[in-house]
Amino acid sequence: MSIIEGLCKRRGFIYRSSEIYGGLNGFFDYGPLGVELKNNIKQAWWNDFVHGRDDIVGLDASIIMHPNVWRASGHVAGFSDPMVDCKESKLRFRADQIYFAEVKVDGHTIGYVSVLEDEGMQAEAEKKAHELKRKKGAQGELEPVVLKNYMEAKPGEYDLIPSPATGNTGTLTPPRDFNLMFQTYVGAMRDETAIAYLRPETAQGIFVDFKNICDTSRVKVPFGIAQIGKAFRNEITPRNFIFRSREFEQMEIEYFISPEADWKKLHREWIDACKKWFVSIGLPECELAEDVHPKEKLAHYAKACTDITFHFPHGLQELQGIAVRGDFDLTQHQNASNKNLEYFDENLKRKYLPHVIEPSLGVDRTFLAVMTAAYTEDEVPNDKGQPEKRVVLKFSPRIAPLKAAVFPLVKNKPEIFEKAKSIYERLRRRWNVFFDASGAIGRRYRRQDEIGTPFGITVDFQTLEDGTVTLRDRDTTQQVRMSVEELIWHLTDKIDGKI
Ligand code: ATP
Repeated sequence: MSIIEGLCKRRGFIYRSSEIYGGLNGFFDYGPLGVELKNNIKQAWWNDFVHGRDDIVGLDASIIMHPNVWRASGHVAGFSDPMVDCKESKLRFRADQIYFAEVKVDGHTIGYVSVLEDEGMQAEAEKKAHELKRKKGAQGELEPVVLKNYMEAKPGEYDLIPSPATGNTGTLTPPRDFNLMFQTYVGAMRDETAIAYLRPETAQGIFVDFKNICDTSRVKVPFGIAQIGKAFRNEITPRNFIFRSREFEQMEIEYFISPEADWKKLHREWIDACKKWFVSIGLPECELAEDVHPKEKLAHYAKACTDITFHFPHGLQELQGIAVRGDFDLTQHQNASNKNLEYFDENLKRKYLPHVIEPSLGVDRTFLAVMTAAYTEDEVPNDKGQPEKRVVLKFSPRIAPLKAAVFPLVKNKPEIFEKAKSIYERLRRRWNVFFDASGAIGRRYRRQDEIGTPFGITVDFQTLEDGTVTLRDRDTTQQVRMSVEELIWHLTDKIDGKI
């Protein structure tokens, strides 16, 4: 992760928010290349799921909504994570991210160890258990270290489990619920009646506008409403770069279906469509997996939920959740608002509250997955034909921040410079293209490789004679000569896809 984080900072993809003031934990800024990549991801999603389908329409709801929205949805009462405080270090942890083990030597408990959830936590706990045995001078055989989640600790154990921050016992509190919604006040008054929340998900805006959209658009069940927008969660432990932050963006769809529809079949179709989309933006299929939530872990109203997971640098983790939520949300809002939200089905000739399938995806997590998949180190020949290590971001041309870079081979030949400039001007009308005339050509290629520009176009002496340019492929470094017309066809095909 630190390699990707370093590259993101160095090349202007992502910075820590308010960095000159020391940063603000859980908040990030997307720099010049980051904003391009992020916009391209969002645009690709919108194109494929909204413009590319007849059964989905878009929405852009407000971030701050009536506080009753969040009462009805259950977020005020229940959108919380269990947290644990360390009274000594003043650090706060998510209880379900702390693991502990009773350390036993020859059947006798000699103490406890604790670790934070991590790929290497078992090995770390074993190391700590050996250390404890040595410190206590215990003789005999150390029994296998069996990790348990802090949520499973018995009340008598809270004082015995050492803090993962200090290693001292007696400083951790029992788990307590912590609501993740950010609060604010609307208007001039600062009392209870003025409290409002920054939305913790975009989905509720869709449910609240369901009736409006039915009344004003020609939608017919089954149909979906899609929304892209910011969401805010006061996460207890924002971690792993942009994987878990406090301000992030979501791309969510509520797909409304009849209560009699074959939801299992539709759920499967949605999982497949979403996986296909990830592959279309460059995530290798072999890095994606499915995590089916067991029945006992589902919310009481949910019929099923499958996460699409991805091999992030810190392990196989949720990228997208695809839940079947029944009619829970519309029922809640209908009851709380006292407005009839039923839909009249012309085929069935009756009214009902539709059920939903909810594919819910984080833009920032998709960004991190794209970065992870694209990051490659390889060796290519340099200007002198010697093998040289290079870092290359193998973005799909569809979402690459810059689509191509145009290079005049030499700087001091005005005809070459002007010709290159004119090709650049022509291409930039359509795509985000870069012009670079400074430095050795090999170095210029390398700079573009590191930021994932898929195509390099070089204008040289031969261009002045026959009008052809060379087109370099980022991944293979192969160069082919072609006319400018052929170049435009080639780029259109690779970037925008076949029409
Ligand atoms: P997690 O279990 O990782 O906290 P979640 O199950 O609470 O996630 P959902 O409420 O289902 O997440 O949100 C849908 C999607 O929004 C997630 O799959 C993820 O892509 C994204 N997401 C959720 N929380 C965050 C966050 N704090 N930072 C970045 N993206 C997030």
